[in-house]
Amino acid sequence: MNYRHIYHAGNFADVLKHAVLALVIAHLKRKDTPFRIIDTHAGIGLYDLSREEAQKTGEWHDGIGRILADSPPPEIAEILAPYLEVVHAENVAGSHGPLQRYPGSPVIARRLMRPDDRLVVNEAHPADAAALTALFAKDRAVKVLALDGWTALKSLLPPKERRGLVLIDPPFEEPGEFRRIVEGLAAAHRRFATGTIMIWYAIKDDRAVRTFAREAAELAIPKVLSAELLVRAPLSAGGLAGSGLIIVNPPFTLESQLAALLPYLAERLGQGKGAGDRLIWLTGERVTNP
Ligand code: SAM
Repeated sequence: MNYRHIYHAGNFADVLKHAVLALVIAHLKRKDTPFRIIDTHAGIGLYDLSREEAQKTGEWHDGIGRILADSPPPEIAEILAPYLEVVHAENVAGSHGPLQRYPGSPVIARRLMRPDDRLVVNEAHPADAAALTALFAKDRAVKVLALDGWTALKSLLPPKERRGLVLIDPPFEEPGEFRRIVEGLAAAHRRFATGTIMIWYAIKDDRAVRTFAREAAELAIPKVLSAELLVRAPLSAGGLAGSGLIIVNPPFTLESQLAALLPYLAERLGQGKGAGDRLIWLTGERVTNP
């Protein structure tokens, strides 16, 4: 396991993933009944951007850095509000000073949930799992596990609250990740058919992504929305050109929020020719933006 998220914290892919994560949680809070969030590949929770690893790549400059430097139109500001609220809360100077820390998915979830909601965070890298354990020490609303994420997924579903969100955010460092995602998606939906399941995927080679989308659609799970953001054209031998999210049982408000947010992000975070976005229903509903 070589992947360490500190090198990438706050990059363009985190912006899309975390903005959507915050929107899904905001929607879950519309009902009074408690929910559970399960984060199978959690990272360390909070990233100190002054650390050498983060400084080395500086990826957040072209991600959250560009978003914070902008004054988006009111509709976009409203969509980004739950996410940016957490980013600001983690920085001493609030919205005015330079960015010092970037919240990962566990901290975003923890800050947005209510006293009776619960969070389970799982991380397989021993050092990162230890950091996560220290971060949530004595926090009774959070359970930290250090298992293989795909194993954890099966053992944790369905949650006893029968409402909630599963976030699956694998590192894409080994071949076969798309296959594991399709299998994980099938297993998660079988155990928790009413839950919202959000899966992140890397876009490097467009052909591999299209095959994956077809296989995910063939599972015939009702209501699967896919949202992709490309910062440049994918090249088969290139690095990360974009990222996508598959969202099973998305909140009914999410499609229209993403239809507004994705073009804004593509314009703001684009790095060259081929930047763009794509929002489609893999199964269920209608095609929004073919
Ligand atoms: N979800 C985090 C966030 O949004 O802040 C970022 C997670 S990062 C993309 C992926 C994480 O998965 C890494 O911290 C890595 O150590 C961890 N990981 C790798 N293989 C794993 C496995 N089999 N099970 C659980 N975690 C794993």
